[in-house]
Amino acid sequence: MIDFRLDEEHEALRKTVQEFAREEVAPVIGDFYVREEFPYEIVAKMGRMGLFGLPFPEEYGGMGGDYFALCLALEELGRVDSSVAVTLEAGVSLGAMPIYRFGTAEQKERWLPALCIGEALGAFGLTEPGGGSDAGATMTTARLDGDEWVINGSKAFITNSGTGITSLVTVTAVTGTDPGGRKEISTIIVPAGTPGLAIAKKYSKVGWNASDTHELSFADCRVPASNQLGVRGRGYAQFLSILDEGRVAIAALAVGLAQGCVDECVRYAHEREAFGRKIGEYQAIQFKIADMEARAHTARLAYYAAASKLVRGEPFKKEAAIAKLVASNAAMDNSRDATQVFGGYGFMNEYPVGRFYRDAKILEIGEGTSEVQRMLIARHLGL
Ligand SMILES: Cc1cc2nc3c(=O)[nH]c(=O)nc-3n(C[C@H](O)[C@H](O)[C@H](O)COP(=O)(O)OP(=O)(O)OC[C@H]3O[C@@H](n4cnc5c(N)ncnc54)[C@H](O)[C@@H]3O)c2cc1C
Repeated sequence: MIDFRLDEEHEALRKTVQEFAREEVAPVIGDFYVREEFPYEIVAKMGRMGLFGLPFPEEYGGMGGDYFALCLALEELGRVDSSVAVTLEAGVSLGAMPIYRFGTAEQKERWLPALCIGEALGAFGLTEPGGGSDAGATMTTARLDGDEWVINGSKAFITNSGTGITSLVTVTAVTGTDPGGRKEISTIIVPAGTPGLAIAKKYSKVGWNASDTHELSFADCRVPASNQLGVRGRGYAQFLSILDEGRVAIAALAVGLAQGCVDECVRYAHEREAFGRKIGEYQAIQFKIADMEARAHTARLAYYAAASKLVRGEPFKKEAAIAKLVASNAAMDNSRDATQVFGGYGFMNEYPVGRFYRDAKILEIGEGTSEVQRMLIARHLGL
């Protein structure tokens, strides 16, 4: 038998995050969004709750949980707001996870404790202005000069890279050519504030407006050679594995957004009247909301399947790509339908569904576009 019930610990975590999202995030996040302001106090509270340390061992200040726990937290946050959810997603899966997976004992001891309690945020710089899908086309370079890496180039759209608590950005860079003549790509940790690292003004975005995203440039930016993360030349493989996990996390966030649309619509359908009846009495509205619930439900099963394989240490790349594809699709469809259910108020910032509509689109783009997910799935089918 397949058992979809959560165990006691996961269920308790889900409830705690749900309560936090409803009571502490929902009432205030709309204003942060409109002001395009990073919500430091909310992030600090999430840190105190241990959310940034969920999948990391206690010796680094983590909660000793698993990746599924992170996904559940992201789903519950995403149900209320995506800016907050993606700050956690990127902080854990892109900021801290590469260091935990590939770092030396010294690197883990130096960086992880503050990242695990949310006092610091890490960022992951892979995408460049010239392209993100073709991640191997990296143009940023790093050359060894004595005992220092000298980095030159730029990175685009980097989440959590310019907050007041950002402590590091891990970047991929070309460090030479391998024996086959291909680019050798390595990963290097650049501490925030390193001379030569310039953080551009934050982007003006369509969605995720209370999250932090910047372009970064590196001009003879020097860091110690010991800041290399993992084995030289393994950068490409490292970030691909980080992105595989990240896709499950983004799928969970997307399911949260899709479910949040259902929550809002059910409430509104009971309140709003048209032609003398609650709009929820019209079958056209009921069917729209029923379809939304079905999409959220099936996308949840897809990410549960991917996360359970990930946690068991089984191959999960195909399931991760499927989960990301269907969940981001569900988020897009649900946010469009939810906005329709709300009519004109759906287009106003005072209701969350307009925010959900704007936030959903990036889910089909970030951490691998939907086309990239289809490429990965097709590859697994031998095509
Ligand atoms: C808000 C935000 C936050 C982000 N955060 C981060 C971050 O923290 N770190 C980071 O490294 N990146 C980050 N990104 C970058 C994101 O991952 C990339 O935008 C994404 O991977 C797509 O890359 P691109 O924008 O260069 O699009 P491109 O690669 O230029 O693609 C353009 C279009 O062509 C399609 N396409 C490309 N190749 C193919 C192909 N072979 N077959 C079919 N279609 C194809 C794509 O699917 C897309 O539709 C972020 C982006 C945004 C907008």
